[in-house]
Amino acid sequence: MERFFANTQSKVYVAGHNGLVGSAIVRALEKKGYTNLIMRSSRQLDLRDSAAILEFFCIEKPEYVFLAAARVGGIHANNTYPAEFIYDNLMIQCNVINASCISRVKKLLFLGSSCIYPKLASQPLKEEYLLTGPLEPTNEPYAVAKIAGIKMCQSYNSQYGTRNICVMPTNLYGPNDNYDLDTSHVLPALIRKFHEAKVKGDPLVTVWGTGSPRREFLHVDDLADACLFLMENYEGNDLVNIGTGEDLKISELAAIVRDIVGYRGDIRYDSSKPDGTPRKLLDVTRIRNLGWRSKIGLAEGIAGSYDWYIRHLAGSPSI
Ligand code: GDP
Repeated sequence: MERFFANTQSKVYVAGHNGLVGSAIVRALEKKGYTNLIMRSSRQLDLRDSAAILEFFCIEKPEYVFLAAARVGGIHANNTYPAEFIYDNLMIQCNVINASCISRVKKLLFLGSSCIYPKLASQPLKEEYLLTGPLEPTNEPYAVAKIAGIKMCQSYNSQYGTRNICVMPTNLYGPNDNYDLDTSHVLPALIRKFHEAKVKGDPLVTVWGTGSPRREFLHVDDLADACLFLMENYEGNDLVNIGTGEDLKISELAAIVRDIVGYRGDIRYDSSKPDGTPRKLLDVTRIRNLGWRSKIGLAEGIAGSYDWYIRHLAGSPSI
């Protein structure tokens, strides 16, 4: 069976290459010397369009696929647009996984999410906890779509002998993150809130919820490194979690971001906003046993993200 790293001329399609995850995978592939990358923006190719996707795969014939395209967002976006979160993700997955099988892609990596695990599962979350209990309501449509994607990858492997692998990243952050306060995740939201409060001299920054939920944060360059590692080193139907193995309270995260940004005002917690799931820490034993672990520390990663935000977005009227 051909190994991924054996040939850097292999034709690799990164679906979702403009997003947080896809752009990091492209950076990681280019760093390793891959030059035959296929990319299409959502304007060029609508991944929800079955006929267009099948035609694209049959003409381009990619050998390897990283399926990083998805409708994603933070707790408020998931609550506000549940229809888009389930429809877009189901359509994207169905089309790309099916077309990959028909066009004989050698191997496909599907990205799920840590929110596929039951809301009250014991921590850290082991891969086998999938479908053992009710999901967190604030992102259930998204999680159901991602679970369908996993089952689709596994079913195609069993029935058609495809080599689909499913990876479950924890909360991600890094370059090309979404800094829109209505739709972003907590980490970019806090970077922006503290930065703007510092610039304007505001005495107070509002953080949603009680500050007590715990979350794990992985830099997206670590995730991309893990995805390439698993494309090379892992086969099978079992899920693989990708995380750091460490979590912290939202209040602790807020204090770290405030220090890195250099904001001197106060923090107020708005408990009228949802906390979401109380804790979401992945068990990373499986990927560590395969020989991979994360490298970028949280403070270092946040400092790099703040720098990226300043260089790319701060003051931009479009966000
Ligand atoms: P989740 O991991 O799916 O719950 O997604 P988020 O990253 O959106 O939220 C994580 C936690 O951070 C939740 O408890 C939020 O209530 C909390 N949080 C605090 N302030 C913010 C904020 O400004 N934006 C977001 N998205 N979450 C926030």
